[in-house]
Amino acid sequence: MIGDSTLLDISVFPQRPEADDWAFVFAGRNTLTSLRGQPGVPWRLEEADALWHLNKELAVPIGYWEGKATWAFSIPEDSHTGVEALSGNLYSLLGRVDDALFHAHGRAYQLLHWRDTHQYCGRCGSPTSIIEHGRAVACGDCSTRVYPRISPCVIVLVSKGDKLLLAAAAGYQKRFYSTLAGFMEPGETCEQTVMREVKEEVGIEVGNIRYFTSQPWPFPSQVMLGFFAEWQSGDIVPNPDEIEEAEWFDRSSLPPTPPNASISGQLIAHFLQAR
Ligand SMILES: [Zn+2]
Repeated sequence: MIGDSTLLDISVFPQRPEADDWAFVFAGRNTLTSLRGQPGVPWRLEEADALWHLNKELAVPIGYWEGKATWAFSIPEDSHTGVEALSGNLYSLLGRVDDALFHAHGRAYQLLHWRDTHQYCGRCGSPTSIIEHGRAVACGDCSTRVYPRISPCVIVLVSKGDKLLLAAAAGYQKRFYSTLAGFMEPGETCEQTVMREVKEEVGIEVGNIRYFTSQPWPFPSQVMLGFFAEWQSGDIVPNPDEIEEAEWFDRSSLPPTPPNASISGQLIAHFLQAR
């Protein structure tokens, strides 16, 4: 199962960066990992500061990792040399580090992304400032408040008896076949999203929709809500805008599927075990 982020405490936010704190450091969309430590483990703030002269004014509080205050920092993309740190995108850590660490890293990335895209008020265009110890930003002019935005998506394994529906998304190289997924629309229930997305993507009707589990998905700010659903009617007709190929697969002849660290991989593994 996908683990809980028990090691990251977000009930309290740290107030002021100190030398001994932890720091997640990103350069653009890439995360920097020390060559001397385990992949994905945050830096000691002092160590990262010595390398990149971090701007403490722009430190983003993340919470407490293993009891220690933890921050996120963004440095210019061209300011690291590759000598002191490995640079890689966040996705490359998925499945390579434990879930709690991945989610802490993902939270750091999401909060940096949120700050970066909310420097100005979306309503009146004035600069925003940080309030509530970093939990929100507020407009200095019109008082509009914005909390970090999370976009819910459903991801669904559709089955037909012993077979499961897997699809290769359009626009990607066919690296693997996955379960269907899509963003929720305002006003929808999760179940309605499941029915709509499946119908839109492959043209079939589904029922018996059951919740499975969820996974934060920081690419950049989704939460994936996993479901099982059963085929009710219709033939598969892939929507070419979204799906390149979709088929019913037998358990004995599965195509390449997503890693178990992803919720899609978990849905597939659970389905196969349950039969
Ligand atoms: Zn405003």
